[in-house]
Amino acid sequence: MPAPRDTVVPDDARGPARLTVLAGPTAVGKGTVSADIRARYPEVWLSVSATTRSPRPGEVHGVHYLFVTPEEFDRMVAEGEMLEWAVVHGRHRYGTPRGPVEEHLAAGRPTLLEIDLQGARQVREAVRDSALDAQFVFLSPPSTEELVRRLVGRGTEDAEERARRLATAEVEMAAEPEFDVTIVNDDVTRATDELAGLLGVPGAEGEERRPEPSHGGR
Ligand code: 5GP
Repeated sequence: MPAPRDTVVPDDARGPARLTVLAGPTAVGKGTVSADIRARYPEVWLSVSATTRSPRPGEVHGVHYLFVTPEEFDRMVAEGEMLEWAVVHGRHRYGTPRGPVEEHLAAGRPTLLEIDLQGARQVREAVRDSALDAQFVFLSPPSTEELVRRLVGRGTEDAEERARRLATAEVEMAAEPEFDVTIVNDDVTRATDELAGLLGVPGAEGEERRPEPSHGGR
């Protein structure tokens, strides 16, 4: 019987794909790179995280995030549905639902998680004794000075907030050696193409793919 549309059908011929985790310091441009992957590399499946924060304009439930109540988030954690989860920026909770990740990998689809450092560390633990094959990619700014410029650039934060952000950035940058590969985000299109190459998308590196208009989201 033909499978209904949107169902993930395991493709034994291709075998399980590799899980790729993208992390990096705040303000390095992870959201922009993953939005560019979404726009130009539809063959990559971008994991849809659950979050307790509210949608921003243009964000679609089920596409950019699963926007859930704190109670629903608690339930997902309690029932073991999260591959990882964390409180990000001391405020809202974010987590990766495990089921869809496993299903897309089993179907041979290159799968990308764009998560924070705490989450990346949890995924490393989770895959250590599992059959999942994962690679960990650190997105780095061209220089620490550039990251500082991006962090404090708008000048809207007070001195205390700037100092807090800079301290966070320093800690986050120090995590780079934990990762398998570093991609320097000096140019979004180039960084995305490099990431697509690591994800094993055929023809990703060196092939011209035009950036498409952004549709918002992370
Ligand atoms: P935003 O609220 O701006 O979309 O995302 C804030 C931060 O949450 C980003 O650093 C992003 O990487 C992180 N994030 C998004 N989804 C997840 C997730 O499922 N798990 C973890 N640990 N972090 C996430």
